[in-house]
Amino acid sequence: MSLHGDYDPQNIFALILRGDAPCYKIYEDADVLAFLDIFPQSRGHVLVIPKACQARNILDVEPAVLGAMMSAVQRLTRVVVDELKPDGVQIAQFNGAPAGQTVYHIHVHIVPRWEGEEAGIHGRGKADPEELKLLQARLVERIRAGD
Ligand code: AMP
Repeated sequence: MSLHGDYDPQNIFALILRGDAPCYKIYEDADVLAFLDIFPQSRGHVLVIPKACQARNILDVEPAVLGAMMSAVQRLTRVVVDELKPDGVQIAQFNGAPAGQTVYHIHVHIVPRWEGEEAGIHGRGKADPEELKLLQARLVERIRAGD
């Protein structure tokens, strides 16, 4: 039933949104919060989540919320590409456990990819906190510079 069901207000992204759990925030506005994935599939793996919504997945989300989220995804993808210079970038969104979803608050993955670098395995391997802090600082600075 992971594709259908009620929104769990205790999911980790809801906790992050309420300030009850930490995150490596890189961007926030009225609509979205973006932060680094702590089990990244590659260096600079960013997650973008809508703020004022209780949507578990693409089936639940209001179109306006989806639109705001995707606008932010595009903007932040440009930032990631400008700053980290990957050879490619993957944009992913999973719905239901068999599709790979593990956190049931809708979100989009921005995953930079480099030639010759094997893709990390989804959800495995915690990143070094120091590396995450450095990446966070670089991306925050790049966003500021673009404002
Ligand atoms: P999905 O599997 O599409 O539901 O994506 C959930 C993502 O959230 C995974 O890539 C996890 O590595 C990531 N994740 C889980 N907990 C945290 C956390 N506390 N901070 C940042 N990312 C997280």
